[in-house]
Amino acid sequence: MSIQRKFIKSLVSVSLLSVTAWVQAATITVTIPPLAGMVAPILHQDDRLNILLDNGVSPHGFQLKPKDIKTLADSDLALLVGTPVDAWAQKVANKAAHQASMVDVPNLFVLQKRNHFAWVIEQAHEHHHKNYNYDGHLWLSYQNTTAFIEAVSKQLMQIHPEQAQYYQARTQHWLAQLSQAYQQVAKSLEPYQNSAFLVLHDGFQYFEQQFSLKGVGALRLNPEMAPSLKHILALRKRMSEQQVQCIFKEPQFPEKNIQMLVKNQSIRVGELDPMGSLWAQSQGYLNYDDYLLTMGKAFSECLGGQR
Ligand SMILES: [Zn+2]
Repeated sequence: MSIQRKFIKSLVSVSLLSVTAWVQAATITVTIPPLAGMVAPILHQDDRLNILLDNGVSPHGFQLKPKDIKTLADSDLALLVGTPVDAWAQKVANKAAHQASMVDVPNLFVLQKRNHFAWVIEQAHEHHHKNYNYDGHLWLSYQNTTAFIEAVSKQLMQIHPEQAQYYQARTQHWLAQLSQAYQQVAKSLEPYQNSAFLVLHDGFQYFEQQFSLKGVGALRLNPEMAPSLKHILALRKRMSEQQVQCIFKEPQFPEKNIQMLVKNQSIRVGELDPMGSLWAQSQGYLNYDDYLLTMGKAFSECLGGQR
């Protein structure tokens, strides 16, 4: 073989390799960081993962920027919660090659929106869907999360059948790891099932329900609107009636109304980050086992008086 032929042959094999790599890598775009934390551990190292929601920003009332529109539309797979929480992405997500929404998983576990006294949620929160009457924070349900991971795994296997075994093995391993984290959180929160607390907005109902926690009210009835003085006074009354131990702020919302609530009262202030993005710092998301464990720790520390 001449030197020239050798050279051509190596060029051909190099380009074949790069074509193969290009074909196998999938671009996955998620709306909110917790969805990234669910699927990142099953992805191939060449797959690319984009998150649309910026760090420290609330998804309620979010709007897509032009560069995000292109990222989402050009994706091989768009992942959504599929409730009003990320309805801002739905139209563009329909242009992606494939998409999956949590709201579509089989046997979806749903909780009704809370409407008793301190939990009244105004219509504006859910103005995108007319007949929408359940709580849209589906990613805080472990059951919905594991069902979604399985659904996404199946989609990835269809998109890249040559890597089906890889995705399947990663998924099984990941679900086992998640189950361990779930058990650990359940155990750590057992002592606090009767400790009443308030949250900043009503985003944690699924978490509260699965670990039998006692949330008794939210500061913001509508996540996009500051609370009225009347509501703050009603909550202060409820705090003494229910012996509230702790109130949780959130990085996505201003803190000043919390100060009005806790003024002259011995109530601890904790912090919950439903997006997990600030807890995650530079990476932008926490793998969902760490997300669960970190949220569990935020609850146990505040309810247990370590904060
Ligand atoms: Zn929310």
